[in-house]
Amino acid sequence: MTRRRWIADTWDEATASLEGNQAAHLIRVLRAQPGMEFDIVAGGRVWHSVVAGIFGDAVRFNLIAEVEADPALPVTLLLSIFRFDRMEWAMEKVTELGAECIVPVIARRSEKHLAQAAAGRVERWRRVALEASKQARRSDVLRIEEPTPLKAAVQDDLQAVRLVLAEQERSTTLRHALTEALAAAGDEAPSIRMAIGPEGGWTSEEEALFGVENWKPVSLGPRILRAETAAITAMAIAGALLE
Ligand code: SAM
Repeated sequence: MTRRRWIADTWDEATASLEGNQAAHLIRVLRAQPGMEFDIVAGGRVWHSVVAGIFGDAVRFNLIAEVEADPALPVTLLLSIFRFDRMEWAMEKVTELGAECIVPVIARRSEKHLAQAAAGRVERWRRVALEASKQARRSDVLRIEEPTPLKAAVQDDLQAVRLVLAEQERSTTLRHALTEALAAAGDEAPSIRMAIGPEGGWTSEEEALFGVENWKPVSLGPRILRAETAAITAMAIAGALLE
């Protein structure tokens, strides 16, 4: 039986609670009653649960038995800031595809007003990630970091496999680079970081920065994709090779 899944706001070893919007939806729209059964994600684990009771604005569950769940894929996307409606769509889709984390990065060609407004959008992006994680029946929520200047993001996590999506690259495809990196890593799935440029693409200074920090430029083919298409395609390719 497929049970509806919720992501707990608080939990201990035996119980979990939903609060805020999630609880309001469960109480008012789904008319939660003690004894109703759901799957609850708590601390990255999924539990078959029953509603124990409604206490004010919160719904409390008893956790009955752990349910098998797949963790996120070890993929972080450095997503340059571009038009928010398209960016949000990309965030939703890469969450469904299993990405672990998105770092919104301020690239040279990210529009100034969007770069300035990005910090104020993070809470909304996290809500998008939460909803998409629930919808995709994930056992965790995609993490969205604070908007970060490109330079700092490029210099972070130097142990990861680092790939920069570059439309002018012709010789190495993303699929080829990932296949090689996974073969080299053997049984251990390596962390993967992939950077996607803004609508105007990377500047030559940014390309040089990636080069200095040993990021490998990779192609998604001869056609120029919109940034959101590139992010989703890259995540789909990584998922196909990792799973
Ligand atoms: N500079 C480009 C232009 O205006 O001709 C457009 C950049 S594209 C809309 C945005 C980003 O998507 C790029 O910076 C790159 O990261 C990624 N991208 C798009 N098409 C790609 C391809 N064929 N291969 C690799 N990356 C691609």
